[in-house]
Amino acid sequence: MSDSFCSTVVTFPEGAIEASSTIVHIQRVLGLDPKATHWAVFTEATPFHPVDPTWPDQPGDTGVLLTDVGELPVTGCVTAAVARAGGELLVDAEITAKRGDPEYAWLVCHLVADRAGDLPGRLVGTAAKLLVDRRRRRRLSVAHTACHLTGLALNVNLADRWRKPIRTDGLGRPDFDGVAIVSSRIAEDGAMDTYRLGTSLRKAGFVSEGFADGVSALQSAIETSVAEWVRQAGQITVLTKGSALHDRRTWECVLQEGTARTSCGGTHPQNTGELGSVTVRCAFDPDTKLLTVATTVVPS
Ligand SMILES: [Zn+2]
Repeated sequence: MSDSFCSTVVTFPEGAIEASSTIVHIQRVLGLDPKATHWAVFTEATPFHPVDPTWPDQPGDTGVLLTDVGELPVTGCVTAAVARAGGELLVDAEITAKRGDPEYAWLVCHLVADRAGDLPGRLVGTAAKLLVDRRRRRRLSVAHTACHLTGLALNVNLADRWRKPIRTDGLGRPDFDGVAIVSSRIAEDGAMDTYRLGTSLRKAGFVSEGFADGVSALQSAIETSVAEWVRQAGQITVLTKGSALHDRRTWECVLQEGTARTSCGGTHPQNTGELGSVTVRCAFDPDTKLLTVATTVVPS
């Protein structure tokens, strides 16, 4: 790849789902799906959201590229990086650099199913229209905000279990969600978050005695908190420090009790009222000390 490769300009943070841009590079990539090779198509700018390899919570967008050789279905979207000093294109899990490392260009990689082998020569330098699958994007966005609200609701309902001061969330409560989370996976119909209530959380001041007995009450309390925030139709904004893929972004949500903010690289609806009905199921395994919180959303 060229040593002058620029980081991709992204427009998904403000909710864009289509754009026109120039194709700047195409190459075959291997290994993402052992059953098929893909073309990785790169453009100067894109509305497509790629999965983040370091915190793969929200899946990459799908959609189509309208090009001079016809419509190319985008079956997935991942992050790629290339050292500015030159080197191999690293895709998704191959990336070892820290997110946003200035020594690298950070790229949105549109995956197009393999086809006749003449894509690169014919398309590099030409214009393309990029169209994200609108329905899937909306569902992922709604599920992502539901996931954040569930985390805030956990913090509300576990606030009295802390016996030491700990960092607080945007609403001023001890940030259980931020310190105990192990993984987060967002899907079209909701999210699954996993938290560890182990030794390090106890040392940080969390009181876990009797936790298992209160899980069903916790589940109902989370649903009540989230339902109230959905009723408020609080305005959501994704704040950005720049337009490059690796620039830091923050989810901001205005609720009656305050403005919640959390670092987030995903996409979101414009207000919490779009979440419609949210159901939460909590399960705690006393052996592994893992709490799973499954959030299901039926958008309004
Ligand atoms: Zn997020």
